[in-house]
Amino acid sequence: MLDNNIKNQLKSHFESLTQTVELLIALDDSKKSTEVESLANDLASLSDKFTVVNNPDTSARRPSMVVHSPVKNTHITFAGVPMGHEFTSLVLALLHTGGHASKAKSEDIEQIQSLDQELNFEIYISLSCQTCPQVVQALNTMAATNSKIKATMIDGALFQEEVEERNILAVPAVYLNGEPFSQGALSLTDILNKVDSKGAARQAAALSEKDEFDVLVVGGGPAGASAAIYSARKGLNTGVVAERFGGQVADTLAIENFISVKATEGPKLVAQLEEHVKEYDVDVMHNQRAAGLERVNNKYEITLENGATLKAKSLVLATGARWREMNVPGEQEYRGHGVAYCPHCDGPLFKGKPVAVIGGGNSGIEAAIDLANIVEHVTVLEFADTLRADEVLIRKAKSLNNITIIKNAQTTEVLGDGKKVTGLTYTDRVSGDSKALTLAGIFVQIGLIPNTEWLKISDLALSKFGEILIDAKGATSLPGVYGAGDATNTPFKQIIIAMGSGATASLGAFDYLIRNSEESEQDKTAA
Ligand code: FAD
Repeated sequence: MLDNNIKNQLKSHFESLTQTVELLIALDDSKKSTEVESLANDLASLSDKFTVVNNPDTSARRPSMVVHSPVKNTHITFAGVPMGHEFTSLVLALLHTGGHASKAKSEDIEQIQSLDQELNFEIYISLSCQTCPQVVQALNTMAATNSKIKATMIDGALFQEEVEERNILAVPAVYLNGEPFSQGALSLTDILNKVDSKGAARQAAALSEKDEFDVLVVGGGPAGASAAIYSARKGLNTGVVAERFGGQVADTLAIENFISVKATEGPKLVAQLEEHVKEYDVDVMHNQRAAGLERVNNKYEITLENGATLKAKSLVLATGARWREMNVPGEQEYRGHGVAYCPHCDGPLFKGKPVAVIGGGNSGIEAAIDLANIVEHVTVLEFADTLRADEVLIRKAKSLNNITIIKNAQTTEVLGDGKKVTGLTYTDRVSGDSKALTLAGIFVQIGLIPNTEWLKISDLALSKFGEILIDAKGATSLPGVYGAGDATNTPFKQIIIAMGSGATASLGAFDYLIRNSEESEQDKTAA
């Protein structure tokens, strides 16, 4: 199952293990069961701490493998074959169960240890989903730390009956004690905040106690990361407050236009960004959403959704952008139940089924080409009379016989049976006729909108599209407040551009701070 190169690498990782780990396998006659058995035996050959045991639990999913600590009585289950993006989750589960310390923050570990209720998490994933391992690994960390918590990763492609019974059409989908818990990306801190409300209040109080920052960066995408590094390198007391570090890059599969790096992947670049920021004395506040901006005595206060307030002399606003929605009846109702926004993540759940892609720009045509390999048929609906994608992509899409492209099509409604998507209706903008398509899934690829709603109640000037208006130095309409990246009116939205604008914004903020402190010194002298 594992090649020799991987085996050698794992063997050296497993040498540091101090505790016994049992691999409890539950198998049937399927080919996937043979793979799980072979994987368990391969792992057992790499460390004398591992033993393979048949799972005595007759109700266990098959095939599955439980990473069990007989010492701590912890259980982490993998239902399916944890390869692809989930292989790292398996390796981490083995390391943590075998006594290797987790890299989670010590305060998170303490909070997990203090939880005293039984929590049984089930996480539905697809092996090609890039955001799934983050959720699986967070829940596995909890399960490896506290025996009252159990985590089970379930490969949705293999356990289709369960997926259909629970109407899961987007991953990662998490169930807690049999009830829906969350959908989409989620960090360890998010999960802890959800299951431990007292912990969230403690965290808000601790944030409000922080000293005033010289520069507070709001947003942790490429623009925010770059702004933080530039600011810290100027010796300024710098903070970054971000809902999800990495931003859109975390959702990107292949990146081939980040100049000087020929090809990379989103999660890899996010890890490198984080590593680079950590080289400097930057206070990164993860999983925190800004909800308000107020100017108080020529300084600023950012209010967070959890009620905390952060104080700063100057700000860099870099909250990026997110997928644009269609805003048609049925879209919200069936979001996660057939309406999807990430083809890389959710495509495999529609294997062999008909889907539509809304939007004929680069992302829409790219999504159609990607999905055509998995699904039965892709219909691309484009509102305009021409496709906006690059010619090379259009040619490729047209060469595939399971892609149909319909132009002048205005989507009017998402149709469903109360549980999941069954199709959509659209108006043919030339004839005015209303038409219907039978579908299992709808992938919305119609661009991005800036994450600036939280700024609308402030005095900050925004464009009619909600973008933060900035000048050549990144300065906004408020003194000392700078903007960077996709959240601003910059005409092109790309990683390298966002990073450049983050640097510009921080240099602008530095300029503002030195001039401002000079003025205050002069004021004091004059007085
Ligand atoms: P974002 O990356 O959107 O980051 C915004 C940050 O702000 C995040 O940390 C977010 O959590 C945080 N945030 C948002 N709201 C709040 C709030 N209220 N409070 C606190 N934090 C908040 N570009 C390329 O150059 N090459 C590519 O190949 C490429 N491929 C792409 C593929 C996909 C699928 C997508 C979606 C985008 C792609 N892009 C690509 C575009 C690129 O990712 C963006 O231009 C870039 O990430 C913008 O960076 P940013 O920092 O401005 O914003």
